[in-house]
Amino acid sequence: MLEKIEKSDFKYIGNKLLHWYEKNARDLPFRQTKDPYKIWICEIVFQQTRINQGLNHYNNFIERFPDVKTLADADENEVLLYWKGLGYYSRAINIHKAAQQIMNDYNGIFPHEYEEILKLKGVGKYTAAAVSSICFNGRIPAVDGNFYRVLSRIFADDFDISNSKAFNYFSELAHLILPENVGDFNQAMMDLGSEICKPKNPLCGECPLNQDCIAFLTNKIYDFPVKTKKVKAEGLELKYYFVHRNGQFLIQQRKDDFIWKKLYEFPPEISEELIPFIKSVKTVNHKLTHKNLSIEIYNVEVDSEDTWKHFIAENNYIISDYESSHQKSFPKPLENYIGNYHTAYRIL
Ligand code: SF4
Repeated sequence: MLEKIEKSDFKYIGNKLLHWYEKNARDLPFRQTKDPYKIWICEIVFQQTRINQGLNHYNNFIERFPDVKTLADADENEVLLYWKGLGYYSRAINIHKAAQQIMNDYNGIFPHEYEEILKLKGVGKYTAAAVSSICFNGRIPAVDGNFYRVLSRIFADDFDISNSKAFNYFSELAHLILPENVGDFNQAMMDLGSEICKPKNPLCGECPLNQDCIAFLTNKIYDFPVKTKKVKAEGLELKYYFVHRNGQFLIQQRKDDFIWKKLYEFPPEISEELIPFIKSVKTVNHKLTHKNLSIEIYNVEVDSEDTWKHFIAENNYIISDYESSHQKSFPKPLENYIGNYHTAYRIL
């Protein structure tokens, strides 16, 4: 398909999209700036969070940490506190580390080149492309699921989006329609993909590209994008907090029975008072039949006896230690975590 398309000029599609964007761009605070620091923070905040859900967090974060230096100098616990409610705390930990990286490796100046931006902790190809194009005129499409969907529909392209080469394929396809202003183009694709060319019930009647979209013109919208329907193991994300103090830690028996019925686990959530004690996070991948688990385990070392006592009094968790944990059954990844903790604790 790509070879056939390459012979034609499709830049007019990108330009049409830009005209639409000029009139219809959503009025968002981070669209008033080209400050790479703010664009970067916004891209990370909105990676797994809807715009209207994350807007207050974004504004509060920028107000408290208005530049790279302020963020780099901040205490990690405070950064985590400002991330509260957004979830995926590893993003906050990475943002903090990346700010320190910019201070140490780039003299506090946000790197301009795509390849350099990509070296920052927690920054992937999509984010690097977005920052590079919006702030430094980089000619790199910020390819994500929106691009896959919109491009495969416009060209009625049946390239399988679950193929490991899909990213490169759709990047090449995007280059064929790329106008001069790539920064606006990337944002226009984001708006079109989320507001108009939605996965279900796309608003083709309002779409600026409906006279160019082969899937629409041939009435085959729902044939694209193509994704092979393999019986794949379902992905499941879990989150635990390993709350501990002086060799003791908190556990409970599982209530959910869809996996690990009656096994013991760490607290799946904590109260606000414990957030400052989060020291690190570890992601463990674990396979079960038909399920691929991604387990985030936060290491919460409670340095304050008062907080420890208060948290225990407010909750029904069981106090355990390494020896007594042997009397109970834990899922393998949690059992391993306890073993590693015990080893580390003994060395200390
Ligand atoms: S016409 Fe419909 S399917 Fe085609 S790009 Fe627009 S919204 Fe998507």
